Amino acid sequence: MSTSSITASAIDAVEFDAAIISKLSQSGPRYTSYPTADRFVPDFGYGQFLEAVAGLRLRRSQRPLSLYIHVPFCDTICYYCGCNKIVTKDHSKAATYLGYLKQELDMQGRLFAGIGQIEQLHFGGGTPTYLSDRQMGDLMTYLRENFDFAPDALGEYSIEIDPRTVTPERIHSLRAQGFNRVSLGVQDFDPEVQQAVNRIQPEAETRAVMAAARDAGFRSISIDLIYGLPRQTMDTMERTLDKVIDASPDRIALYNYAHLPHLFKPQRRIADADLPTAAVKLDLLALCIRRLCAAGYVYIGMDHFAKPDDELAVAQRQGRLQRNFQGYSTRAEADLISCGVSAISAIGATYSQNEKTLDAYYEKLDAGVLPITRGVKLDHDDLLRRIVIQKLMCNFELSLASLEQSFPITFRHYFAAELEQLEAFAQDGLLTVDHEWISVTPKGRLLIRNICMVFDRYLATARLDSAQPLRYSKTI
Ligand code: SF4
Repeated sequence: MSTSSITASAIDAVEFDAAIISKLSQSGPRYTSYPTADRFVPDFGYGQFLEAVAGLRLRRSQRPLSLYIHVPFCDTICYYCGCNKIVTKDHSKAATYLGYLKQELDMQGRLFAGIGQIEQLHFGGGTPTYLSDRQMGDLMTYLRENFDFAPDALGEYSIEIDPRTVTPERIHSLRAQGFNRVSLGVQDFDPEVQQAVNRIQPEAETRAVMAAARDAGFRSISIDLIYGLPRQTMDTMERTLDKVIDASPDRIALYNYAHLPHLFKPQRRIADADLPTAAVKLDLLALCIRRLCAAGYVYIGMDHFAKPDDELAVAQRQGRLQRNFQGYSTRAEADLISCGVSAISAIGATYSQNEKTLDAYYEKLDAGVLPITRGVKLDHDDLLRRIVIQKLMCNFELSLASLEQSFPITFRHYFAAELEQLEAFAQDGLLTVDHEWISVTPKGRLLIRNICMVFDRYLATARLDSAQPLRYSKTI
């Protein structure tokens, strides 16, 4: 496929319809898992996790493994942040944390010995580069001693980097330690916006980190942006996009800022008057989509864009894309082992989450058990709906026949109520349904979360239960 034809199809792949978006915008899950994490139950613990791993061993699973490592610390607070993090300048806390993290890695390494190779590693946070160069080198060596990693050419080994915390030398060191992909937090290049969110990050600093990453041989560089931040205007966004396009990252994640000060305390430092109105926010989104697609990026889905030759875009064309807790991923069917405070694993037909506070996390490890606090074992209906949601999120289409081949159901009967609900979307031109396929149109792609919500059995129950307020962000 020539670059020009890819570029043309990228522009056709997503259509912005402000009237429909305004009509349908509502709160909803991002579906990094199904069931979503708010459905996890405390009854699921260490024992159920061990059963799930035993199941892999029994089935002699040859599926690849993914490993996620959570580093919760940050030096300073960004006012927009809704992550699970600990802001402290006391770096001795990281040394204590690493001691416990190694205990967990040691236990998980023994559990998964001989089951499969790690083909995907992701360090997230917080700020993974809060760890010193020496601590990171030591941790990577420890990981290699406890798990079997695929060679560099086959594995995707990525780390989230706050450019304010690293030098070009550190970037070279991270490559030597085994990372081959980086994701840089940028959010916005405008100094006024940066000041309003307490994240002062000069453009030159970010560009120097990107240049070092290219020089060091990182295979993919990703940038995170946010629209809807305080003091963002169409003019500031135009200038930020000029700079982003000129910097030419391989992937761009464009997140919608969800202002939920009742849930996230740091957001109370953002003045309501500084926030763009809902109408301006939509204009900002339209501008970003138009500029990025015109610059040759492929719209992958939700909030992700990638160059046509990036693995994410290639995996989507080949139908191998999937969603996990880090967003879109190229490793379909990988079991995910997650280590660190609050981290979520996905093993076989289960999800399990670690304790969410450091004290509780340390306490369980001191007792000699894996620090699992809650989780869920998926039943047949969950597995079926998970596949439906995954396919729609990643491929924007669903083959009814192939689903009926894997699950003994008649789609039209099993999902009769859902098909009825989809009719309204079809009338708005967001999708088509025939005997063989559900296909999301370019206009429906930005509203894919709304479409997937139709298949979420738990959401329907939660809506009826007013005692359970939903904590989701706006779908767009
Ligand atoms: S946005 Fe990232 S760096 Fe900023 S406080 Fe949140 S986790 Fe830390």
